[in-house]
Amino acid sequence: MVCTLLSVIAEFLRVMADKSRGNAERTFIMVKPDGVQRGIIGEVIKRFELKGFKLVGMKFLQASEDLLKEHYKDLASRPFYPGLCKYVSSGPVCAMAWEGKNAVKTGRFMLGETNPADSRPGTIRGDLCIDIGRNIIHGSDSVESADKEIGLWFKPEELVSWKSMAESWIYE
Ligand code: UDP
Ligand code: MG
Repeated sequence: MVCTLLSVIAEFLRVMADKSRGNAERTFIMVKPDGVQRGIIGEVIKRFELKGFKLVGMKFLQASEDLLKEHYKDLASRPFYPGLCKYVSSGPVCAMAWEGKNAVKTGRFMLGETNPADSRPGTIRGDLCIDIGRNIIHGSDSVESADKEIGLWFKPEELVSWKSMAESWIYE
């Protein structure tokens, strides 16, 4: 009973915290090694920039398999997990944090479905890739996972808080 009450309160606080984030919601977007090899970093940045989202963190690195194992740990029981961690650690990636109203949900729409075959034209995966195992980009699936992922890939001092002069022309 007490446990249920506490979890309801915790969920309420989490929802309120998410709501109060407003235009400052952040999502973790990563161009995977196949996207880097195919020269798609610029296209991804262009789409998020043109949408009106604000770049608050970016780094280009080859991540260790251990980092990928942590990043994808919710998928550890899936048969594709070992191959996935190997593939994403096999070459450089471009890791980014983007900020804006509904950045997580809208970011997922912009990416398309996990399987490019189910992704509509106009989405990144719908336009630019074919196979599920080479779907070129990662995007956080919830505000909670975005927080975890940004915390995993960036040190606090690597994230930049800045005021965009376009803000008053993007938000009403
Ligand atoms: N993946 C795969 N085979 C599958 C499902 C997923 O290779 O059957 C890979 C794919 O690269 C995907 C990643 O695992 O992007 C993470 O899976 P998730 O279900 O989290 O999809 P996402 O959030 O990336 O759309
Ligand atoms: Mg996912």
